[in-house]
Amino acid sequence: MDVALARAWVEAIAEAIDQHTDQLTQLDSAVGDADHGANMRRGFTAVRAALAEFPAETPGDVLVRTGSTLVSSVGGASGPLYGSAFRAIGKVLTGPVADAGQVLSGLTDGLAAVQRLGAAVPGDKTIVDAYTPAVAAFEQELWDGGDLRAAAARAADAAEEGMRATSALQARKGRASYLGSRSVGHQDPGATSTALVFRALAEVTA
Ligand code: ADP
Ligand code: MG
Ligand code: MG
Repeated sequence: MDVALARAWVEAIAEAIDQHTDQLTQLDSAVGDADHGANMRRGFTAVRAALAEFPAETPGDVLVRTGSTLVSSVGGASGPLYGSAFRAIGKVLTGPVADAGQVLSGLTDGLAAVQRLGAAVPGDKTIVDAYTPAVAAFEQELWDGGDLRAAAARAADAAEEGMRATSALQARKGRASYLGSRSVGHQDPGATSTALVFRALAEVTA
């Protein structure tokens, strides 16, 4: 991954968020406060502006800037969580070109940052339920001899499977946890946006 690919990834996420703002809002209206679409859109609109004139020299520069912008522009739980993730991913990608193993290290650190901040584990019906299987699938594909493109494709499929599986879960973190058992039967908004993030990576590496 070079600077151009990192920029393309972030732009693809921004486009996906634009296309799915209403869906994310609808999901969050069932289990939260109906702002996840607006939060993500505000965040990635700010990221687009922040990156436009930003002289990045490494993919890490792009992703750290993305994370910092999300932290400062999104008020909800998702801003600090995604912000910490992108900053952690970017901190690993310090050379001009990152190989697939370094991208895996970044994604792994990003997940650790989300869990350090939010204390969610798999099964809590959060971002972590899409992110965890995505990282595992990415790693498995590299073990199987696949390249960045193959790893990203497999990670996106795993993220979407994790996303769909959140419907059956009862939320134990975030606003949805206030609903108790009434959160069951609804797909988690944050797991849904995480699946968009991984699908965007698969698209730009394909
Ligand atoms: P808010 O809940 O503050 O309105 P958003 O609606 O933007 O923020 O984001 C809600 C999403 O954030 C949830 O669907 C869930 O996936 C995610 N989330 C909430 N709390 C946590 C947490 N502690 N760890 C991981 N993800 C979380
Ligand atoms: Mg919300
Ligand atoms: Mg909110």
